Amino acid sequence: MPDGSLPPNRPLPEPAARPLRDADALAAAGLVPPGSLPTLRAVAARYAVSVTPAMAALIDPSDPKDPIAAQYLPHPAELEASPLELEDPIADHPHTPVTGVVHRYPDRALLKPLLACPVYCRFCFRREQVGPSGGVLSEAELEAALDWFAAHPQVKEAILTGGDPLMLSPRRLGHIIRRLSAMPHIGIIRLHTRVPVADPARVNDALAEALDTETALFLCLHANHAREFTPEARAALRRLSRAGVALLGQTVLLRGVNDTAESLEALLRAMLECRVKPYYLHQLDRAPGTARFEVPIAEGRALLASLRGRVTGLAWPTYALDLPGGQGKAPIGPDFAERAEGGWQVRGPLGGGHFQADGATSEGSPTAG
Ligand code: SF4
Repeated sequence: MPDGSLPPNRPLPEPAARPLRDADALAAAGLVPPGSLPTLRAVAARYAVSVTPAMAALIDPSDPKDPIAAQYLPHPAELEASPLELEDPIADHPHTPVTGVVHRYPDRALLKPLLACPVYCRFCFRREQVGPSGGVLSEAELEAALDWFAAHPQVKEAILTGGDPLMLSPRRLGHIIRRLSAMPHIGIIRLHTRVPVADPARVNDALAEALDTETALFLCLHANHAREFTPEARAALRRLSRAGVALLGQTVLLRGVNDTAESLEALLRAMLECRVKPYYLHQLDRAPGTARFEVPIAEGRALLASLRGRVTGLAWPTYALDLPGGQGKAPIGPDFAERAEGGWQVRGPLGGGHFQADGATSEGSPTAG
């Protein structure tokens, strides 16, 4: 549904009791046709599958274009890699000084304590790495990773990602948060997670307690469709905000999921209703077998521009592309100002425009810029 609401009278599948982790379980739950099993078994053998009960309950199996299904159900096209796709699109590996750490920017670094997730997104840029069995740092590896942070005072921000750091036990997560908080140079801790929408029951008091720290802590929620904000997800986010956690939102622009003005607006509004400030709208990273999700940059820019003025500025995310090779994220528009002779031509979000002549001192040269 483009506006994020449920269609009237649609038959809901029986809620799953536990995550559905292979093609046969998805077929038994009525989420994929039994005839597709041979191909989907091959896809699941290549890339991890997990659909939580919360997400399975949102899928309308009678809708071949269901935006929740598109994100989580394996698809035959995943076995078709294109020459433009890269196994490690943003080059984590060359920027890994010790196991579990990725250091790309001078002032911040990633800590990946595990590579498991509550769900496995079919467009994930780390799809070659994530999975239920892989990537949990041993005690020694985790301590070595934390020691790396302690030894690098230029790193001011620790970003916990993975996998999904909220898949850790509250005890282990609390230990990591306490160790990082005790480092005087770490001023910000950020966690990237899908858990509050994909598995909201994990957001319990013990987890909220583990996140309680004097250090500024931001939780960056990955959500791509308004329907993911179920009553349970909203309650989980309320629990986090009550615990003093600042909430940010990140979204991947995805064909068939959030590639219309209506669906994107509904998503951004749902975030704000839950006190989640939209932060990034990511251009798809070209990981193997994900081409069907790509929205051209020109279309993404036009989509976002169409929301300017119509949707509160609070909802405005930065549309960004993570450059291949680990060169960092670059904002990719849309632009509302163009340099013109003697000033700037600025497009108005409500229709008109304005020529802003250079001030006496503001631009230096009339043709600068
Ligand atoms: S939750 Fe994040 S890391 Fe895990 S599969 Fe989805 S996009 Fe990838």
